[in-house]
Amino acid sequence: MTDLPTVPLGDDYPELRESVRRACAKFPGAYWREMDERTAYPTEFIAEITEAGFLGALIPEEYGGAGLPLRAAAVILEEINRAGCTAIQCHAQMYIMGTLLRHGNEEQKQRYLPGIATGELRLQAFAVTEPVAGSDTTKLRTKAVRDGDSYVISGEKVFTSRALHSDLMLLLARTTPVDQVKRKSDGLSVFLVDLREAKGKGIDIKPLKTMTNHNTTQVFFDGLRVPAENLIGEEGRGFRYILDGMNAERILIGAEAIGDGRWMVQKASDYAKERVVFDRPIGQNQGVQFPIARAHAELEAADMMVRRAAALFDAGLDCGADANMAKLLASEAAWKAAEAAMQTHGGFGYATEFDIERKWREIRVYQTAPISTNLILAFVGQHVLGMPRSY
Ligand SMILES: Cc1cc2nc3c(=O)[nH]c(=O)nc-3n(C[C@H](O)[C@H](O)[C@H](O)COP(=O)(O)OP(=O)(O)OC[C@H]3O[C@@H](n4cnc5c(N)ncnc54)[C@H](O)[C@@H]3O)c2cc1C
Repeated sequence: MTDLPTVPLGDDYPELRESVRRACAKFPGAYWREMDERTAYPTEFIAEITEAGFLGALIPEEYGGAGLPLRAAAVILEEINRAGCTAIQCHAQMYIMGTLLRHGNEEQKQRYLPGIATGELRLQAFAVTEPVAGSDTTKLRTKAVRDGDSYVISGEKVFTSRALHSDLMLLLARTTPVDQVKRKSDGLSVFLVDLREAKGKGIDIKPLKTMTNHNTTQVFFDGLRVPAENLIGEEGRGFRYILDGMNAERILIGAEAIGDGRWMVQKASDYAKERVVFDRPIGQNQGVQFPIARAHAELEAADMMVRRAAALFDAGLDCGADANMAKLLASEAAWKAAEAAMQTHGGFGYATEFDIERKWREIRVYQTAPISTNLILAFVGQHVLGMPRSY
């Protein structure tokens, strides 16, 4: 398999890319197919990349991490997917801690960040989405009511991925009823829930089977007590803290989509060269060749956007618009690559041993989670172009 040509834009962590590729080479398609078939968590893969220090990339050195810029973290996730592995089951360990890092107090950071950096503490779960509120996050119903030294949590979350493979969970809950706040985004708070302590004390986590092996769950709270010291930042300001972390998440998800898309283009172009039908390689037909070429071009363009958003983020500049557009364009470019690869492989695209159908299912998620395409377009329409709020 020859490497796809990409636009050289200077030194973009070639050594880091190489070491991620080396780690990923130990986990071929057969490994991921087995995980998929058993809906299993890729424990061995996570251990490998944790030990290599990749998941602690964004944690400052003073807390035991690598202290790397966001662009480096993006490169790690892109390379994982480009190698045919799946970053979606580990990426959260990299960035959920950002809320703790930016808004937690020093004691909380000292207590948790070193363990997260080594992987000893898994902070892989982020509980925001609820079945009724959906994308309208400020309408969430999960309540946290202060009672002495703790908060009592009741309510329910859905699509809380990896909650069964996590020691800690970041939770967004309402601490002041919506009819008692000035803005509906006020009165929400963020908590770090220690799932090891919570077990059997008012929390029930049920796996939610989905079309991809995402280890996602439904989480039910019934009087769970969370120590008040686990509140992150100030009570009532949680929505802002969550928004703060979303730019980083969107840029990283964009990079993952680029990695997946490039894997698809590589697979499609290789197959189009090899597969002979009507006495010639199928890639000689423009109907087969052009969708792959277009997907490649669109991925390159989306990658520029991901890089720009990361550069702004790393420079400490406003990157909201760029992060959103990067995620939008990367998710769509990756999907086009997936469609091109699926069509190029004909019936074999459906055969699990080719890995196309598995990656195709995985790539579709980027258009829905962590935020759906329409909500990004609404952001761009309103906040970038100044049009009226559409929702
Ligand atoms: C595999 C997977 C993993 C996930 N992991 C997590 C996780 O770890 N933690 C977590 O909190 N959540 C997670 N999610 C949830 C995800 O963030 C939500 O599914 C997503 O934000 C959309 O919310 P919803 O499903 O409630 O859709 P809804 O809000 O019901 O929206 C349905 C559709 O309507 C559109 N829509 C709604 N309102 C408007 C409007 N005003 N204008 C235009 N279009 C609109 C949306 O764009 C969408 O296409 C995950 C989801 C999936 C599928």
